[in-house]
Amino acid sequence: MGNSAPASAAASRPEDRCDAKARGPSATMTHQYPALTPEQKKELQDIAHRIVAPGKGILAADESTGSMAKRLNPIGVENTEENRRRYRQLLFTADQRIDSCIGGVIFFHETLYQNTDDGVNFAKLIKDRGIVVGIKVDKGVVPLAGTNGETTTQGLDGLSERCAQYKKDGADFAKWRCVLKISETTPSELAIFENANVLARYASICQQNGIVPIVEPEILPDGDHDLKRCQYVSEKVLAAVYKALSDHHVYLEGTLLKPNMVTAGHSCPTKYSSEEIAMATVTALRRTVPPAVPGVTFLSGGQSEEEASVNLNAINNCPLPKPWALTFSYGRALQASALNAWKGQLNNEKAATEEFVKRAEANGLAALGKYESSGSGTAAAQSLYVANHAY
Ligand code: 13P
Repeated sequence: MGNSAPASAAASRPEDRCDAKARGPSATMTHQYPALTPEQKKELQDIAHRIVAPGKGILAADESTGSMAKRLNPIGVENTEENRRRYRQLLFTADQRIDSCIGGVIFFHETLYQNTDDGVNFAKLIKDRGIVVGIKVDKGVVPLAGTNGETTTQGLDGLSERCAQYKKDGADFAKWRCVLKISETTPSELAIFENANVLARYASICQQNGIVPIVEPEILPDGDHDLKRCQYVSEKVLAAVYKALSDHHVYLEGTLLKPNMVTAGHSCPTKYSSEEIAMATVTALRRTVPPAVPGVTFLSGGQSEEEASVNLNAINNCPLPKPWALTFSYGRALQASALNAWKGQLNNEKAATEEFVKRAEANGLAALGKYESSGSGTAAAQSLYVANHAY
């Protein structure tokens, strides 16, 4: 026998047993090989902190070409590359008032390579203002066969090469959106697990390329479920996401989370106050999101501009300890009034930019818990809800 232990003895060691529990990730992943140097970690952490510095949040201007049709058609503007460029230009050239409340802008691929009328590249323009440039890198949702209409998000193939190129072209953070649905039968375990895993793979690839991943597991507001159910589902989804990020050795200090606020379903007959929404949201986050994560940047998810500001303000005033920056990464809730004021007309550009600045400032204040609502009788109070929203 000598030094070699008999096979039967080796098989009795816990790590060699065949039962699934003992062979799961926790039993076998006792080592992490080096993934990021201290310099890489510092760079990622610095980028994340700049984006969510006090009073700052994110402008999500990464609507795909298809989503832009849904924004431009209602205001009578044709969805051409030039019109998308003119519209984005009026947002990006807003005066210095936005520099203190916009920490990052998320671009769509096309926009990253567009220029102002004067030939200045949009990404350079934003970067030179001290605002961090981000890029949407997912390729949209696809059905998960055998589920009740659930989806996963595609785009991992070639992602590392794309991230490397985007980094050279000025992007320092990225966004990847996954979607989950609440109904009697959803979200399924499969959808929760698959979406958590794909978010973790994406996050790991981004970090290897010096890009801070925004992790977005959006739970849609469609349905008549109450606040408690949304909180319960949010907790299960977020817990799965952070388990997957841990399994994939993602450096949490160099990430941001982009979740839905915990709200009742859009068709729920009960209406909840912003304080109730804030309590449910912060409670769910406290139970699932590690304090190592520097910031939580909420999506607006079809809330009106005013609601999105009031709810963010209430979240920041929620009387529970909050170890992360809590701020905005709004698309519709930063742009709806601007689009309506613009209507594609040169003469309206100033007024449109002014509407955008107004929402940016309101949300900057809300991120500090200092926003005072001007009431609900305005256009900003109109719901921006779209059923089964795609982005
Ligand atoms: P909304 O704020 O319009 O929900 O969009 C934010 C976003 O980027 C969703 O991916």
